Amino acid sequence: MMPKDEAHSDPHGELAHLAGALRHHVVRQQRRGQRRVADLQEVTLIPQAPMAASSERAVESRPSSKEKPAPAPAAVPSPPRSPASPPNPGSPSETWRSLREKVAACQACALHETRTNTVFADGDPPARVLFIGEAPGFHEDQQGVPFVGQAGALLTDIIQKGMGLSRSEVVIANTLKCRPPENRDPSPMEKATCAPFLLAQIELVDPELIIALGRHAAGALLQSTASMGQMRGRIHRPPQLGGRRVLATYHPAFLLRSPNMKKETWLDIQLGMAELGLSPPPRG
Ligand code: SF4
Repeated sequence: MMPKDEAHSDPHGELAHLAGALRHHVVRQQRRGQRRVADLQEVTLIPQAPMAASSERAVESRPSSKEKPAPAPAAVPSPPRSPASPPNPGSPSETWRSLREKVAACQACALHETRTNTVFADGDPPARVLFIGEAPGFHEDQQGVPFVGQAGALLTDIIQKGMGLSRSEVVIANTLKCRPPENRDPSPMEKATCAPFLLAQIELVDPELIIALGRHAAGALLQSTASMGQMRGRIHRPPQLGGRRVLATYHPAFLLRSPNMKKETWLDIQLGMAELGLSPPPRG
């Protein structure tokens, strides 16, 4: 999905609920002393319960002027345990594969009816960096891979030419795993229903740094309705994510339309690289 108006203030109520789901999950994990991949045995991988309010918007193309101020995040009920999701005590790669299969088979919300493919992730855990975008667009839905096309090429450049990593060294995912038809906004229930998959991915990848691409992904992860301009430029350690480091920056699709913002993105990426102890690759 193509974000617009990244720099615009984004008081979006739906973001708060995915963030609320994230927080709820992490707090639950922390209370159990769970943080590592092996502890994911008890993560419910197939969400079922409709949530009372929305989570996050998967379409980045709606004018933010239409968005309403976010209410205070409401308590999100625990995802119900599904008999179809028994504990999976396998290795991280096995658990990742199992999670991918569960996403592929997921019919927990209406988006399964119109998707061509689920879009789980690109890359495998563990990875030092986890990029999280918004929702699959047309090409992603067709190919089942996140960040393809021009925006994907730009993200690849950021990873390879900017950070000196290969795309295979990172994991790239979206907050929503199925494309909303005609790029419409997903319903609150769709978004909240899909949230546990992202939570499980974060736990499995266990990244040193999460890079949120676009204000919607960033807002959800940071539980913030601030504008991208307010969220970017610093490392966050949101308690709702157990203090994991999160860096917010502009979505590559936005940068394609606003190339003058690439400078800020590069500053953000450099900040992230410093956190990771990475040096820019030599210029050829
Ligand atoms: S969007 Fe998420 S919850 Fe909905 S069908 Fe796809 S994978 Fe399942």
